[in-house]
Amino acid sequence: EYKKGGYKPILIGEQLGTYTVLRKLGFGHFSTVWLCSDNREDQKYVAIKVLKAVHLCDNMAKEEISLLTELRRIGSDHPGRKHIIEMVEHFDVSSINGNHVCIGFELMGPSLLHLITQSHYQGIYEGAVKCIIRQVLLGLSYLHNKCKIIHTDLKPENILIKVNDAYIKNMVDKTTRYSELGLPMPRSYISSENYATQSFETLIKFAYSNPVMSPDEPERVQRSSSFPCLSDLTNDGETTKICTRSELYVSPKIEVKIADMGNACWTTDKIEGTIQTKQYRALEVLLGADFNTPADIWSVGCIAFELATGEYLFNPRHTQTFSSNEDHILLIYELLGGIPPYIASRGRRSHRYFDSTGNLIICEMPLLHIWKTEDVLVEKYGWKRVDAIPFAAMINAMIEPDPELRITADNGLVHQWLNDSSS
Ligand code: ADP
Ligand code: MG
Repeated sequence: EYKKGGYKPILIGEQLGTYTVLRKLGFGHFSTVWLCSDNREDQKYVAIKVLKAVHLCDNMAKEEISLLTELRRIGSDHPGRKHIIEMVEHFDVSSINGNHVCIGFELMGPSLLHLITQSHYQGIYEGAVKCIIRQVLLGLSYLHNKCKIIHTDLKPENILIKVNDAYIKNMVDKTTRYSELGLPMPRSYISSENYATQSFETLIKFAYSNPVMSPDEPERVQRSSSFPCLSDLTNDGETTKICTRSELYVSPKIEVKIADMGNACWTTDKIEGTIQTKQYRALEVLLGADFNTPADIWSVGCIAFELATGEYLFNPRHTQTFSSNEDHILLIYELLGGIPPYIASRGRRSHRYFDSTGNLIICEMPLLHIWKTEDVLVEKYGWKRVDAIPFAAMINAMIEPDPELRITADNGLVHQWLNDSSS
């Protein structure tokens, strides 16, 4: 990806505008993101997103900047505003690969995906799921109603955890220790291109010689950012422990923000084609029907389930019998116990899965295994029925097949599951 039109190769210590690069924080399809210190102000740290140089990304960057600028301008008194990542500034830099747009953001900590991996894919405490989902819905209430923006790519990687100064200091200190000791940085801290130039022997020697600062674990492709262990993460001086569902506790003080406006669009835009990351993709998008803000809510339903169980709600796979999209439709059909024909037949791609009256054509009915959300929670994840009922009701409201009937961010905030104090 570090080629012409691709990511900008970045060296630790390099100057980006008025910032000095300390280490990499993460990457996505369109960018690498770097922890930087501000040369103008001591102890001030930001995250700089450096977009790929391709022309497409340039336009995307302009769109991302115009959305972020609008976000800064509107509705400062809305309670959801603080749950959307804030842009600090933007500027351009160039590299051998072309021109790169750089966007400075307030520095955040790990993403929700990190919580999921830290739970060893067991899921986190339900109280923490509520706390996170409440903030995501608040953020969406602001985005959807005040700003008229659809995010279109909500997923755990794009929701970031706020960290305090002690955490940031720890992260910076850990990073500078590598330079002070003259040690090679872990792969995840630097450009992969630069990594390739370090000899294998040096890295192996390093890994064995320094148990305290061993390189981070290999990243899961496209789904990772690396930070110091989450148990380092403190909020208001209180250690936040991330454990599995049984012991588990995430401080209910956890604060999150929705990030990555790189694919966001205005509700008035007429977007053709597919949006969203596969596992979080709404039914109407799969069917090729019109979509709007309810598509984001579908993704929130998928995220809530994943946070609580550690597993995808829908993980469509390409098999010998079915394409990935066909599998996806069947998974939705099985969980919902059917898809109303007027919805099923509505999209440009409906004919691939349904006949003109909305009956499923890709699979014989007896082969389907209808398995409702509530029963999945009880039978597969061992939830008590009394806990599964309200949570399943919330999930089902967020993955309601008719976008018009799907719960909105505002109605989600007053849903019983979020307001039941018993858990
Ligand atoms: P892309 O559009 O390429 O997906 P993102 O905006 O999602 O880019 O950023 C990629 C990754 O960089 C995120 O998943 C996250 O790990 C990290 N990241 C992004 N913004 C920040 C931030 N403000 N603070 C800390 N890490 C960030
Ligand atoms: Mg992203």
